[in-house]
Amino acid sequence: MKIRSAEFISSFADVKKCPAPDLPEFAFIGRSNVGKSSLINMLAHSNSLAKTSSTPGKTQTINHFLINKTWYLVDLPGYGFAKGSKTKRAGFGQMIEDYVLKRENLGCLFVLIDSRLPPQANDLNFIEWAGSKDVAVALIFTKIDKLKQGELQKNLKVYEKALLLRWEELPAIILSSAAKSQGKDEILDFIDEALKE
Ligand code: GDP
Repeated sequence: MKIRSAEFISSFADVKKCPAPDLPEFAFIGRSNVGKSSLINMLAHSNSLAKTSSTPGKTQTINHFLINKTWYLVDLPGYGFAKGSKTKRAGFGQMIEDYVLKRENLGCLFVLIDSRLPPQANDLNFIEWAGSKDVAVALIFTKIDKLKQGELQKNLKVYEKALLLRWEELPAIILSSAAKSQGKDEILDFIDEALKE
């Protein structure tokens, strides 16, 4: 699939205000600074569709973009940010939990993982929680340009082992680099396949 049009639709902190669930949607989530905005902009050939930010814990909203007039790309707030109120840090946040549990048109939740880091508890907890709610999950390892091939393979093995302690089988895993424009076709093909189901 090629993205021919990407249109900002809405930005809300309440899942009840999101657009009517009349089109399939695919959401992207991860810890702050994982490279989510850069990845979304790479997918949509845009420099500014999703706002990149160096401030973890920036405004927490659910952002909908209409892609090719046929599906929604959703930019979810980052979880596990360092700043913010205690209540926001409890669990994964009410907004995120509501979204994952209530959004009936969610085709797949892409959880972004920084490929440079050892498995982080909040990522593993989130993946496990979403899986337990019967949400389709795929993982995107970001910033792979920052690693040598050997390091990347080693980190992936460690991650797969950590996942298999909690999951019976591995979710789909896609490798990406917004800096080198890698992983774009894989992600869009994955969405294309899901749209056909
Ligand atoms: P977000 O907070 O998850 O939306 O992360 P951003 O997209 O704002 O990226 C956080 C930082 O990581 C920024 O300094 C980006 O330039 C950098 N970054 C994002 N993706 C990549 C990547 O694929 N490769 C490299 N080398 N840096 C990246």
